[in-house]
This record gives sequence, C-alpha cells and structure tokens, in this order.
Amino acid sequence: MSGGRAGFALACALWLGAGCGAGSSSGDARGDNPKPAVAPAAATADDALPPEKTGGFDGRRAFAHVARLVQMGPRQAGTPGIIPAQEYILSELKSYGCTAEPDDFHADTPAGSLAMKNIVVKIPGEHPEIVLLAGHYDTKRLENFVGADDGGSSAAVMLELARLLCGKPRHDTVWIAFFDGEEAVNREWKDPDNCYGSRQMAARMAASGDLKKIKAMILADMVGERNLRLPKGGESSTKWLTDLVWGVAARLGYKDIFVDEEYDVGGDDHFSFMHRGVPATDVIDLAVPYWHTPEDTLDKVSARSLGIVGHVFLESLPELARRPLSGANKPTLRK
Ligand SMILES: [Zn+2]
Repeated sequence: MSGGRAGFALACALWLGAGCGAGSSSGDARGDNPKPAVAPAAATADDALPPEKTGGFDGRRAFAHVARLVQMGPRQAGTPGIIPAQEYILSELKSYGCTAEPDDFHADTPAGSLAMKNIVVKIPGEHPEIVLLAGHYDTKRLENFVGADDGGSSAAVMLELARLLCGKPRHDTVWIAFFDGEEAVNREWKDPDNCYGSRQMAARMAASGDLKKIKAMILADMVGERNLRLPKGGESSTKWLTDLVWGVAARLGYKDIFVDEEYDVGGDDHFSFMHRGVPATDVIDLAVPYWHTPEDTLDKVSARSLGIVGHVFLESLPELARRPLSGANKPTLRK
C-alpha cells in the first residue's frame, strides 16, 4: 500500500530540485555560495496551472482551502476540532451561492456514539439523474496529524468544484458531498469501523429513493501530492466509470498522473454506494510515504495536482451527461 522511498525521492526531485536532502550531502564546493539553502518544506501554490488551462478550476484557491483546514489543526470526527472545518465549508459554500444541506447524525464507533455531520450540496440540472462527487473532510485520529493531503485535499477539491458548479445551468443534477467519519476510529481499518458518513448518506438516499437516481459516484481522496500518481481501482471500482474518468484524463494530457495501471484500494467511501449497486470509482493516491503520519503537512500538497484532479472531475460531467442512467450498470465487486 505504500510507495516507500522511491516515491519520496521522485517527489523530492520534482519539487525541490537540488534542494532535496539539503544539509545531508557533503563534498561539493559550495563554500563560496552566499545564498541560504532552500527551505526543504516550502508550502506554496507556485506550481499552480492557470485556471484557464484546467477548465476554470483554480488550483491556487484549492490550495488555499487546504492551508486553511491545516491551520485548524486535527479535524477528527466527533471531536471539537472538526467544528471549525464544518463552519468553514458551510460558509464558503454559502458565499458561492450553493444550497448546502448539513446532515447531523450519530455513529456508533469503538469510541462510543460520536456526533458527525455530512454536508451535501445539491445543484439541480435539467435531468433528475444525479452525478455524485464526493470527498471526506475528517482527519485520522492520530497525534499531531493535520491531514493536509488526507482529508484536506479532498475537501478542498470539492469546495472549488462547488464554486464553479453552483448556480450554473446543467444537464444532470450534481450533488457534492463532504463526508465526515471516513477514517477508522481505531488505528486499523476494519469494517465497519470506517466510512461512517458515506454509509449514512447512502442509507438515507436508499430510504428516500434517490439512490436509484445516481448515475455515477466519483470520489476523491488524497489527491494533493506533488508527485501525484493515480492508478485505476480495478475490481474495487466500476469498470466503465473508471475507464470514462481515466479516458477524460488521458484526453486532457494527464496520462502520467491518471496512469493505466490497476490496484486494489481495499476500502473507501465509494464502497458505501457500490455495495448498494451504484456505479462508483475512487481517485486516490495511497502510495505516499507520509500516509497517516504527522508528515502529512501542507508542504506535501501541490496546487498543480489539485487543479489537474479538479479539471478531470469537471470534464467528466459532460461525458456522463451523454450516458443514460442504467440499472444494468452493476458494479464489479470483489468476491
Ligand atoms: Zn486516511
């Protein structure tokens, strides 16, 4: 599940140039260089692509959301730490003119009954079929863990998508979900101790009858890494939908990021919908060296990566609009 040191070294090379590992090397003649060493953990949005190159999606704005969330500190489900994040998401959505519906619920967890809150934006289209875009905003229960990539990046991409999509005329109805309680409360990921928010939403939609209207669910999780590499979900996703999203990425020139390889994610919020027959896919880079460590900090996040993922999500919408809702689109699930 982890890309290990090779991934780190490559990320380093791309992001810091010669600055990576500064201070550890020796023997080169730089005694006469008056310049200070490059700070090894500069957190900037300098690599952002211009929004006109990413369908209007502004990687800098998305990066600024991650920065704000990280500033709040740990944002663990069911703790006071997550409340500023909920308030921030709701106030940003309001400022974009989005209709946001908070769903407050209690989840039974190994730490007892925890108060959680999903936030769902509903953007009406000409057609009632729903395309559900989603990500989680809670962070893992670990000491000193601020989840810049894991929890921050997905929430940031959803916020910037909401800014672009709310109030614009469209074909399909689009819902954007910010899930609480994706992370397992215990250290280990063991069902049913995970994905509390997405299970809640899927159950609610099943009860209301809306679940049958979902044409596709596209999940983002850990999409901010500088050296972003997103393999296909294989059997842990719906093939036609994964092919559609990765096809869009290839057409846009992001084949080096949305790579034509498969992996098994093991479990994520899209399973809550797939297990109920909804076509779903997960855009995730799990092979990062800082995964679930205190090193998941803002300097690991790239405005360029956020912009590229946002662009692919945006451009997947017209492709999905051309596709009819089909009850025959049964997802493939691991046996
Ligand atoms: Zn996580």
